Amino acid sequence: MAVYVFTNGLAKHFIIMIYKALLIIFLSAVLLPACNANHKADSSDNNQLALAKSLSPQSEFLSKPHLSHVSLKPTENAKGVSTRSSNSAATNYLMGKFDPKKAKLFVKIPQKYADRKGLYLRQEALSAFIRMSNDAKRDGIRLTIRSATRNFYHQKRIWERKWLGKRKLSDGTNVARDIVKPVDKSLKVLQYSSMPGTSRHHWGTDIDLNSFNNHWFETGKGLRLFNWLEANAAKYGFCRPYTANRPYGYLEEKWHWSYMPLAKPMIREAQRYLRDDLITGFKGSSTAQQIGVVKHYILGVSKQCK
Ligand SMILES: [Zn+2]
Repeated sequence: MAVYVFTNGLAKHFIIMIYKALLIIFLSAVLLPACNANHKADSSDNNQLALAKSLSPQSEFLSKPHLSHVSLKPTENAKGVSTRSSNSAATNYLMGKFDPKKAKLFVKIPQKYADRKGLYLRQEALSAFIRMSNDAKRDGIRLTIRSATRNFYHQKRIWERKWLGKRKLSDGTNVARDIVKPVDKSLKVLQYSSMPGTSRHHWGTDIDLNSFNNHWFETGKGLRLFNWLEANAAKYGFCRPYTANRPYGYLEEKWHWSYMPLAKPMIREAQRYLRDDLITGFKGSSTAQQIGVVKHYILGVSKQCK
């Protein structure tokens, strides 16, 4: 009889049905609660993420690849910086409050490309510069980096020496002695130097080449070099932010070139997150809001660099 039942086709089908039913009961009892637990964990993570985003407006910004790889360690306390977002890593980077020697993705420039040791750039900007420099050399043009990354603290030293009259400006002005109103002092120094926190040099994307004198680029060797850059630099990703005849911002600098693939996202983020009241922590910083440094100086660059 048993042999008959097990060899009967209908009975086999019946037994398989029972197995399937038992399997479904087992899965419902044991595995589904575990799935629910995982699902709960996922939603809890999502809630935390949403909370983090709502608490920190820069969290989306920091997740972007051009910033997330930069290790941001402010080297000094930003005294006087007390606004809500002033401590975020994003605004610290945008304002140069970090040490490029310790920041990931910043690399030392080999001395053969510069006029001295110890200059730093973002890795991609340096690689692009080396390609450009090698091709320029083949055309008889020798490009030399005179300045690269200068952080907030470096720029603060330059600015304060001029603002306090410890160093005269190139036109002989002693700002502390010759100018009375703080806003006029700042506007005068801005003709020669960036206000701390408003320079592009701390992004690690910008370089000064060969000479700090516009006239040098207007004749002979300097003119040949300038014409070569105007014709070729864009092929390697470089643009010139401080051209002549802009409505406002830093004066023309024929030596200053910027690596667009990294600098363009930076200027968009600066537009989004920087405000004049964040530009603080140095002598004369109270004038930043009167001048509108974010709009007029940080964003006041040539069209090709925007
Ligand atoms: Zn420069």
